[in-house]
Amino acid sequence: MLLPVFSPKLTPNAILVGLITFSSVHARTATSEADEAQITDPVEECTAYYYAPVSNALDGFPTIWQPATILSNDTEAQSIWANISQSVPTNIYPHGDIYGDWNDTTYNVAEDPDCWWTRSLCTTPKLSSLPPDVASVPEPETMGYGFDDGPNCSHNAFYDYLLEQNQKATMFFIGSNVLDWPFEAQRAIDEGHEICAHTWSHHYMTGFSSEDAFAELYYSMKAIKLVLGVTPTCWRPPFGDVDDRIRAIAEGLGLQTIIWQYDSFDWEEQAGNITAAQVYANYDNFIARVENGTFDSEGSIMLTHELNNFTMQTAVTYYPKLKDAFKHLVPVGVALNKTQPYVETNYSLPTFEEYISGNTTTNSSSSTNSTSSGTSHSSSSSATLTHTINSPLLALISLAVLTLAF
Ligand SMILES: [Zn+2]
Repeated sequence: MLLPVFSPKLTPNAILVGLITFSSVHARTATSEADEAQITDPVEECTAYYYAPVSNALDGFPTIWQPATILSNDTEAQSIWANISQSVPTNIYPHGDIYGDWNDTTYNVAEDPDCWWTRSLCTTPKLSSLPPDVASVPEPETMGYGFDDGPNCSHNAFYDYLLEQNQKATMFFIGSNVLDWPFEAQRAIDEGHEICAHTWSHHYMTGFSSEDAFAELYYSMKAIKLVLGVTPTCWRPPFGDVDDRIRAIAEGLGLQTIIWQYDSFDWEEQAGNITAAQVYANYDNFIARVENGTFDSEGSIMLTHELNNFTMQTAVTYYPKLKDAFKHLVPVGVALNKTQPYVETNYSLPTFEEYISGNTTTNSSSSTNSTSSGTSHSSSSSATLTHTINSPLLALISLAVLTLAF
């Protein structure tokens, strides 16, 4: 299942306006992260723009939105895979296909030998070398707050709202979306959200061969590195489709697997599989659980999305209610006291205690990362996944880029 690149729901009038705009006047295209962040018309927000660091690097990526494979000339990826593959079990086979068709599988769900979450909700791997998935958070009455499938090109109203509330979240970004909408991705990290990977093309991971599953994770990390200058250390499987084979590949890439306990099913509304009222009921039921003490000893995570206007609007509508019900709403990494969210050490997250005391901002030793110029991110784009950025050097390069730009 491919997610739409242009996802806002448009009324017929809006479509008409869009067509008129495209055909008669040129649609406004964003020129920088700050410029993109100021656009309020969804059609203009989602007008494709040119961003040189991405355009210049496309040859190093699989086709956007297509299932990933390691590029034949990508010796770095091949070498990392050769290393990781040694720890990947070879007695766990792909389940069904990458589109989630399991009709032809004969998996023993009762025994669940592969700890296949999608069928059994298993989060403690059968392979003892693997850590358990994160499905809840240790802090009582706390919600690990996050959104999947971004960056969405028309997320400005939603991100404006989060900014107004001084609320940070964990954003699970799809690699293809990051390359399509780099300014939107940059806005997320610059406003203090935690960034995790959500694969390259958003397919069912247990349906891939091990090498292709590696490519799905590897190129999503590489896209985030190119656009944001950081290498994520967490990921969420699309549809929660993970088993011990996929966990081993993620572990090899340094990615912690984040799942959820409750599903708002907000993502099903656009497809017509569920009504808005049912989504609201799911939110309400989640909130009722806070009130009946379900999370008194341990906090929770609910699956929600920045997928389209409905999912984002619902998040905004329910924010005050969640905030009221839970003691704390914090990014998942904050709830885990994971102060170093990326491989690069020039970013840090506040501790849980710091966050709930009001220090909600992700720190960065490179001040240029908050200039919103967009250029600061490109300065580190040539660094490889395994390279740890030297902060003074990054600052120096950023300065040079800014000097050139102005
Ligand atoms: Zn997703």
